[in-house]
Amino acid sequence: MRGVVMHAPGDVRVEQREDPKILAPTDAIIRLAATCVCGSDLWPYRGVDAVEGATPMGHEYVGVVEEVGADVRNVRPGQFVVGSFVSSDGTCEICRSGYPSSCVERVFMNAVGTQAERARIPHADGTLVATPGMPDADLIPDLLAASDVLGTGWFGAVAAQAGPGRTVAVVGDGAVGLLAVLSARQLGAERVIAMSRHESRQKLALEFGATDIVTERGDEGIQKIKELTGGLGAHSVVEAVGTQQSMHQAIRSTRPGGHIGFVGVNHDVTLAGEELFFSQVHLHGGPAPVRQYLPELIDLICNRKINPGRVFDLTLPLDEAAEGYRAMDERRAIKTLLRP
Ligand SMILES: [Zn+2]
Repeated sequence: MRGVVMHAPGDVRVEQREDPKILAPTDAIIRLAATCVCGSDLWPYRGVDAVEGATPMGHEYVGVVEEVGADVRNVRPGQFVVGSFVSSDGTCEICRSGYPSSCVERVFMNAVGTQAERARIPHADGTLVATPGMPDADLIPDLLAASDVLGTGWFGAVAAQAGPGRTVAVVGDGAVGLLAVLSARQLGAERVIAMSRHESRQKLALEFGATDIVTERGDEGIQKIKELTGGLGAHSVVEAVGTQQSMHQAIRSTRPGGHIGFVGVNHDVTLAGEELFFSQVHLHGGPAPVRQYLPELIDLICNRKINPGRVFDLTLPLDEAAEGYRAMDERRAIKTLLRP
């Protein structure tokens, strides 16, 4: 099969990869209907994370089940499925407590590499959710978004306790930040402040339900959030970048007693204990437990209540993955969908 392989920073190629096989009786093999490039794929692409030899890429996926192992009960060949970027057994104590992304059996799907024609999904019963019937073609980008960026934005909003009566600020205007705006509104937040300096992203944030846009960053951005919230700061802040600056932005934009959902993969962030102590904020984040939200998100998508697939502003054939990475790296695209 064909699949995306990163050889070095900036060097992404589509090559022949070995066809996936059932390795454990709990595995399934899917044929991908769509896959995509993630903001987190840009860390190795930009050389921030090391690339250790030829590395298959990709962790987001939707597709049709082709084959299942002997112990798989919940999905069967022919079904269209969505899964999280982390596999989970669905049965361990951590899964049952609502944190499947920290399942004791978890496999990060980067290890599988889903930017490919087919993929092996470990723990298929716990990981995959079948859609009600074969979805219309125009819903595929929406369902693909649920695999990571929507589920992650949703977790950010839940962790920040977005809801009725609360003002939510979102730090970061990538796909996750934009979908955190959508999620916060869906969860009932009355006011959602999107922090963005890019016109096309501001526009999408407004379409997703943002009520205010803040273009300032750093101290000025914090000041602006305070001005919009009676000097107090937001009740809820979603951090969707993962840098020192964005974490500071989030903590300092939250009112005492408020909640922060931090879902940007942290890179070299250090927090001063004393500042954290006096900020009196709740911090909750990490790899999003997307699997626990999938049934609800699939339902919202299939009933056309939300259209998260709008974050894909570039669609390319899998063979042109290199251009898909380049476009995101140069911020010409918010997110690239790849058609195998
Ligand atoms: Zn588990």
